[in-house]
Amino acid sequence: MTGISDSFQRPINYLRISVTDRCNLRCVYCMPQEGITLMSHYDILSYEEIFTLVKAAAELGINKVRLTGGEPLVRAGLSDLIRMIDGIDTIDDISLTTNGILLARYAAELKEAGLMRVNVSLDTLKPEKFRQITRCGELQETLKGIEAAGEAGLTPVKINMVVMAGVNDDEIPDFARKTIDDGWNVRFIEQMPVNGEATVSPTLFSVNDMRKRIEPLGKLEPWKIGVGNGPAKYFRLPGATGTIGFITPVTEHFCYQCNRLRLTADGKLRLCLLNEDEIDLKEPLRSGASVAELKTLIENAIAKKPKSHHLTEGINHKGRPFSQVGG
Ligand code: SAM
Repeated sequence: MTGISDSFQRPINYLRISVTDRCNLRCVYCMPQEGITLMSHYDILSYEEIFTLVKAAAELGINKVRLTGGEPLVRAGLSDLIRMIDGIDTIDDISLTTNGILLARYAAELKEAGLMRVNVSLDTLKPEKFRQITRCGELQETLKGIEAAGEAGLTPVKINMVVMAGVNDDEIPDFARKTIDDGWNVRFIEQMPVNGEATVSPTLFSVNDMRKRIEPLGKLEPWKIGVGNGPAKYFRLPGATGTIGFITPVTEHFCYQCNRLRLTADGKLRLCLLNEDEIDLKEPLRSGASVAELKTLIENAIAKKPKSHHLTEGINHKGRPFSQVGG
């Protein structure tokens, strides 16, 4: 099998796996203040179960896997899962999205297990603001994590900044300057409305406006990056060794090139982050479905992948928070 496409001829080769719905932060744009109702441990897939599903997906042509959450590093033994996935011949890219708080502790071990690269979420360079946005985190921990990831060779380390009007938009130039001064690869992300809210967040700051804030630092030259060239458009500032990426889920959706599936921590295959339709794989898996049967379920699900999200038509998804569906 060389690959699978959905009914809109989009090749599907990328699986994002939420390994847990637990998180050690409470970011304002991701989780409600009161937290979320946590899944029971019984409902969360074991590493063996995740491995079986990745094997089935790999046989259909999935060759890229990203581990996310919740916060993936709060789940014990994540390196074991990485080692198992790394043992699947046709998986050639294993990456991780993390808030970086625990990354300094685990970076070397993750690399040794087969993890290739990390994306670290970081929305501010100010300790007090970090505490406000994350509701509890320490900036220094994430900065140490970023450094450790680079030293361990989990490269390219990409920094994901969700820009929010009136919250951290003033720091856009500081993050952009990091691509010159420290060789950071920064991706500026438009804030998506969280589930059930209006289709535009009140603090949405558009990529167009982000670009205006960066203009005084020099002309942005389009740039091609080697790995993980997903929905971001990449650029470089004069004199920079790092890159600047822009991700526009709200003002210019990139659904036409969507190549991804999401596996939730409780074993549901989700075809779109912003659409609540899910296909249960846990129940068949626990009832003894073979890899061949799981492949058929995944194949049928891919055929139902929606063409796009519907934010621009005024429809927002309902249901689960991003932390449960591998945002
Ligand atoms: N805990 C990990 C982390 O912080 O990177 C992984 C899970 S987190 C849900 C994955 C990514 O989703 C992060 O980069 C986060 O910034 C992003 N995210 C969460 N809510 C978002 C929103 N409302 N708009 C845009 N990005 C969001």
